[in-house]
Amino acid sequence: MTTYPELKLYIDGDWRSATDDLPVVDPATEEVIGRVPVADQATLDDALEAAASGFETWRRTSPRDRAGLIGSAAALMRSRQDEIANSITLEHGKPFTEAQAEVVRGAEFFEWDAGEAMRTYGRVIPSGPGVKHVVNHQPIGPVAAFSPWNFPMSQPARKVAGALAAGCSIILKASEETPAGAVHIAEAFHDVGLPPGVLNLVFGIPADISQHLISSDVIRMVAFTGSTAVGRHLTGLASDHMTPVLMELGGHAPVIVCEDTDVAAAAESSAVRAMRNAGQVCTSPTRFFVHQDVFDQFLDGITSRTAATVVGDGMETGVEMGPLANDRRLADVIELVADACDAGGELTTGGRRIGTTGYFHEPTVLAHVPDRARIMQEEPFGPVAIVNPVDSLDTAIERANSLPFGLAAYGFTNRADYVDRMVNRVEAGNLSINTLEASLPETPFGGMKSSGYGREGGTEGLHHYMVVKSVSHSISIV
Ligand code: NAD
Repeated sequence: MTTYPELKLYIDGDWRSATDDLPVVDPATEEVIGRVPVADQATLDDALEAAASGFETWRRTSPRDRAGLIGSAAALMRSRQDEIANSITLEHGKPFTEAQAEVVRGAEFFEWDAGEAMRTYGRVIPSGPGVKHVVNHQPIGPVAAFSPWNFPMSQPARKVAGALAAGCSIILKASEETPAGAVHIAEAFHDVGLPPGVLNLVFGIPADISQHLISSDVIRMVAFTGSTAVGRHLTGLASDHMTPVLMELGGHAPVIVCEDTDVAAAAESSAVRAMRNAGQVCTSPTRFFVHQDVFDQFLDGITSRTAATVVGDGMETGVEMGPLANDRRLADVIELVADACDAGGELTTGGRRIGTTGYFHEPTVLAHVPDRARIMQEEPFGPVAIVNPVDSLDTAIERANSLPFGLAAYGFTNRADYVDRMVNRVEAGNLSINTLEASLPETPFGGMKSSGYGREGGTEGLHHYMVVKSVSHSISIV
């Protein structure tokens, strides 16, 4: 199966084309595989109107009915797994099996939040006779959401799941570079009969769309996943209107490898995880701080497993890593690796573009990279692991915390006192010990510092899509 779907806007329950469009490129071949419509301002106004009226319908829909519809749409996505995965691999480049897993993860986000829709409990505050104080959680209102290109289906799923489960309507601007995942989501909701206006999907010029939507009085909340720079810009726009934001931004995840760990297993797992999605994951393990006693063994292990990564077109069987998703990423990774080498870093494997067609880059390991290299401060967002020795856990924690980011962090150790020190001192929204899995639908995910604020998933995931209303009721007038 290699067909790519026709891409449309979805406004007020209807599919729409547009006068202007943009090309969608297969990063493995650089061929144009589709065209994504560009929403003009009149279309955005229609989406705003639809979201306003969709909200009135959806907020009155019981949580049980909302959960039922969301669950049915998720089931449809699961049944369309291969069709959706096919689109994802074509537009993004990731291996087909990873794309299949992404569809399942996206469906799980919907299923988890659908369950949570029925558990947005309030509370009764004790008071004197004849008086009742009740805390209610109510949907905040129409949401403007912006999802990135690295997970074409599961990233939009996070936003749509949270908003719809909480009882909000949403206008989603998904990535123009990888638009099909979001189109498949809208299709599933359309097919299960979501009321018009509850979910609206637009594409276009990102800066124009965010400016237009966030400035509207209709929009009551802004959700964004992407770079810290764009997150800061959108937070500024939202603050002009006192609109709350949920920001999932960049990371540069530290991995602390202690001397007591199973070094071979840690190195193997690190190599596989660092190259997943060609490293284009905000929680990718990137900065390895390895105790000097086990440094050589760890570096050998991660280098040999990384060098063995099978790279190729994601549609081919057995491929473990596809191309980078766009030409900007390829250029950035090449530049960052060259700069690291100029600064004195040592390449132990990889470091170059593969071929001349497609945005393929070798799986790469850099060692002994000095802090003055750009890659020690900037998230590579590509297939690069940076491995440096440290003399103690305290030094590792200090170096882990030295950047303005605080999204995911990892540790490999079996010592309870080491774990305790990491839990208390590592600055990250998500800390994982002896596993490189940073988040699941049931665990709250989000950052500290410049990695953003707010949480998606877990019980916390719906909080940002809801407002607290405290109601005091006295039986007689006082
Ligand atoms: P970018 O900063 O240009 O864009 C990041 C995302 O924001 C894209 O999806 C883009 O469409 C969107 N965007 C850009 N300007 C916008 C605007 N004014 N309004 C609304 N949306 C806007 O960077 P890029 O080249 O696409 O990606 C590179 C960097 O972005 C990476 O290095 C990484 O740090 C970050 N990124 C992070 C995630 C994540 O999951 N946190 C995902 C994708 C990209």
